[in-house]
Amino acid sequence: MSRIRFNALEETLHRLPVKVVQKEKRSTLFGQNVFNKYAMQQYLTRAAYESVMSAIEHGTKIDRKIADQVAVSMKDWAMAKGATHYTHWFQPLTGATAEKHDAFFESINGSLAMEKFDGKQLVQQEPDASSFPHGGIRNTFEARGYTAWDPTSPAFVYETTLCIPTIFVAYTGEALDNKTPLLRSLQALDTHATAVCRYFDKNANKVNATLGWEQEFFLIDDALALSRPDIQLTGRTLLGYMPAKGQQLEDHYFGTIPARAMSFMQELEQECMLLGIPVKTRHNEVAPNQFEVAPIFEEANLAVDHNSLLMDVMQKISRRHKFKVLFHEKPFKDINGSGKHNNWSLTSDKGTNLLSPGKTPMKNLQFLTFFVNTIKAVHNNEELLRASVATASNNHRLGTNEAPPAIISVFIGSQLSAVLDELENVTKGKLSPKEKTDLKLNIIGKIPEILLDNTDRNRTSPFAFTGNKFEFRAVGASTNCAIPMTVLNTIVAKQLKEFKKEVDALIDKKGLKKDEAVFNILREYIKDSKPIRFEGDGYGEVWEKEAQKRGLSNNKTTPGALKVKSSEKVISLFEEMKVMSRVEVEARYEIDLESYSNKVEIESRVLVDIARNHVVPTTIIYQNTLLENTKNLKEIFGEDYKKIAKEQIELIMNISNHITQINALVIALERERLKAAKKTGLKLAEHYSYLIKPFFSKIRFHCDQLETMVDDNLWPLTKYRELLFIK
Ligand code: ADP
Ligand code: MG
Repeated sequence: MSRIRFNALEETLHRLPVKVVQKEKRSTLFGQNVFNKYAMQQYLTRAAYESVMSAIEHGTKIDRKIADQVAVSMKDWAMAKGATHYTHWFQPLTGATAEKHDAFFESINGSLAMEKFDGKQLVQQEPDASSFPHGGIRNTFEARGYTAWDPTSPAFVYETTLCIPTIFVAYTGEALDNKTPLLRSLQALDTHATAVCRYFDKNANKVNATLGWEQEFFLIDDALALSRPDIQLTGRTLLGYMPAKGQQLEDHYFGTIPARAMSFMQELEQECMLLGIPVKTRHNEVAPNQFEVAPIFEEANLAVDHNSLLMDVMQKISRRHKFKVLFHEKPFKDINGSGKHNNWSLTSDKGTNLLSPGKTPMKNLQFLTFFVNTIKAVHNNEELLRASVATASNNHRLGTNEAPPAIISVFIGSQLSAVLDELENVTKGKLSPKEKTDLKLNIIGKIPEILLDNTDRNRTSPFAFTGNKFEFRAVGASTNCAIPMTVLNTIVAKQLKEFKKEVDALIDKKGLKKDEAVFNILREYIKDSKPIRFEGDGYGEVWEKEAQKRGLSNNKTTPGALKVKSSEKVISLFEEMKVMSRVEVEARYEIDLESYSNKVEIESRVLVDIARNHVVPTTIIYQNTLLENTKNLKEIFGEDYKKIAKEQIELIMNISNHITQINALVIALERERLKAAKKTGLKLAEHYSYLIKPFFSKIRFHCDQLETMVDDNLWPLTKYRELLFIK
């Protein structure tokens, strides 16, 4: 084993689980570091409390005087929790989170020192954040951006800093972050879902989207990761030979969590409790070293913030445990990748889950309405939904016979399919009394029982109905949930708006009763959206061919998938729903393409570097040993050496061949990269996708072959078998 690898492995051998002090009960810890309702009740005046609550529930503005009061109380509360600094915490278009810390501390005339924080500092900040991606929005005369307080997501204290969730917008008003469009999409959804909800419940005043994510990730030892420039710089392995023992035994899935990983999880969970992130489950995933944590679902904006925060906290805590967390969707070849299922549903302010059937026929019709409208929304916008999860890293999952395919389809289970099939036969126009009773008793009436034993699950479906929610499974582990959730909220909002219009028209112009009208429109929607429903195996060619016949898109590459984001259809959808302006949509498209090209470019450079500076030189050293050996054999045995050194000679030739191939491929790749440098935008992304990326697997193949030939003592990179089995 090489020196570097040996040292790294030796270090890991002496690692014991970090002792995690079990603090109080989870329920006692929960939300202790969050400026939530209870903290606000304690610290705010009644007027201030009511003002903040009204901002949360009804989106009203908080006036300056009240903001001053809130700020002072927030600071007092945070200082009692040990905070010395505050920061506006936001989610720029890098997909990560950003923060710039300022101290509460101030001194006047260099002597009088005190802690200060006022309404202005709470409500608005101007970070000098000009280096975040903006897709051209800030190229204009007005380069500044500012952050503004989002009172719907509570402030929290983390590592002695008071963090205030904010949006990040340009002075010209355009959103520069992921949260702003998300909030707007929730607003649009609320408006149109509430209007539809009122058909069934006159008292409904608000509809919230709920989100429960399931975060998958890999944990690897940080010393081992350090010996791999690919993991350090790209978050994944660009080469590495598959070990004899991979996941084929499937003994890791739901198995005992290794002790070191367990202590990491314990600390993580404690921190999550303090931060009010309601994590509930943890388990091993399919691949070795792969795990999942999932919380209880929450209102979507809060859930998105909590997921971003969780990812941050995981990075920080992992260092203490000498781990590196990998959120990359495919860190290891031939081993399951990581996703982040987004479980999504709708709840009314009366506490009803709109995607859950109820006790009365009316409640069940309400369920069917939201259920069918969601399916229709997905059908009309499948390509956009696919685009919402298109990134360089997630593309290793989608369309590669793993996790969900690149084709979006909806799975609802055989029993609900049967219900929809029956509803398709509802009479056009007025319904006979017999038909009405029949529908109520025999079709809609049966839904709750059907769902009680809904064990029907299809793991290959990218968008599955799972009892009382839809589960969007194509989301990548590293993706900010705000992006797919914004799309889902927007398309469903738009669909519900259309639905309302059509139902009202039947009631007003054709004189149909409300439920007759609802049935009539649902029947049409069920027919229209049939092509998106698919219950079979989502992998493989059979479905690809079938999907093509059905007119569904199958965008396997990232640039191919992203294209739709700049289409007129999509721009007008976002504009109509007031989620994003044309400029904002186009800016994001540009950023997505740029980010894709950058990532593939970095990977190509790292791969070339490893091939040229690690693999080839190491191989040559080994080859020289073989040559030396053969020469010596010739000296002793004369011409007989050819027989005696047969293996060595073959190996020497083999190695030469791989080295030649690697060199040729590397040169060709670099030539393509030079050509790419002349391109921009979509053309550049396509160049990387179609002309540069294909080199990766070819170069990798030869490097991996060499890994199996070269003396283990020389190989510099930690091998898969060493990386993948933490104790
Ligand atoms: P798995 O997909 O691993 O089988 P589940 O289907 O039990 O696991 O997924 C549970 C996830 O679904 C959790 O994250 C949970 O919070 C979420 N969830 C449950 N109900 C809802 C809901 N009404 N809205 C959004 N998410 C929900
Ligand atoms: Mg799931």
